Amino acid sequence: MNLYFKKYFFIIQLFIFSLDVFALNKQFPADNYDYKPVQDIGIRQYEATSLHGTKKIVLTFDDGPNTHVTPKILDLLNKYNVKATFFINTSNLDSKKIPIAYRILEEGHILASHDFDHRDNNKENENVFREGLLRSIFDIKKLERNLGLVKKGIYFRFPYGYYGLNAAYHHMNVIKEVSKKVYDENCINFVFWDIDTKDWGPGMTSLEISQNVKSYMMGGKATTVFMENNRWVKKIINIQKPLMGGVVLLHDKREETYYATESILKMANDLNWDVVPLSSVKEFSFDKKECLIKKDMSLSSLGN
Ligand SMILES: [Zn+2]
Repeated sequence: MNLYFKKYFFIIQLFIFSLDVFALNKQFPADNYDYKPVQDIGIRQYEATSLHGTKKIVLTFDDGPNTHVTPKILDLLNKYNVKATFFINTSNLDSKKIPIAYRILEEGHILASHDFDHRDNNKENENVFREGLLRSIFDIKKLERNLGLVKKGIYFRFPYGYYGLNAAYHHMNVIKEVSKKVYDENCINFVFWDIDTKDWGPGMTSLEISQNVKSYMMGGKATTVFMENNRWVKKIINIQKPLMGGVVLLHDKREETYYATESILKMANDLNWDVVPLSSVKEFSFDKKECLIKKDMSLSSLGN
């Protein structure tokens, strides 16, 4: 009996160790590893675990810039003196949205890639994915360059968080290849999220969105939303193991998110949470790497 127990205990220890190895994963694709399509998937292993339990949050906004909501959110961030990250679809950049993208950069926030467009990358062939990724990087780097900013690498978030399910190739391998071509190894740092506010869900109110952040931080009731029989359904869940820190997923395209952001910033003040920039988080650091665009990569090669 005792021997059985020891064996069992050993297996549990091995299991915990392997979880730890996962937890130590950097956010960017691993060196010297060929990602296998359809097998290497999932997002939970890419949580920013260094933030858990720290009362620190990173605010991230996807799918912008939005001419109506993004400027109001920028005003809020100014008022509370915090920095955020905006993952934009660079195909959105037209004459009305480019000034907002410049404003994001000028006010010290991070302008990051949410790909060229918002299509599901699992449904794109390798060339289309590669071209979209390259194009979005160049679009953002051009805006930085026009303001005289020199920033390391780029942050990238997959639309819907979808990747790895195209049987013909793996997105992470393409990211590695593009990084090597444009910068150096692993200068495209991909970002998922720890706290999904569900602000993208139809019918989500600003109160439900901000309460979700509070519950994932401290425990309590949260609202989730999912599709059932072709209808969107909301459900209340109980968060028993709050993270007490992490990357927060928001979308700067709905008025509800603007009001929720205001509540989240007030909460952060009242409850002593720190709103920190993405670049300060261990998992998203570029370490000592330079990650500057190679000189022979002409930004003008893809138009203005
Ligand atoms: Zn998105």
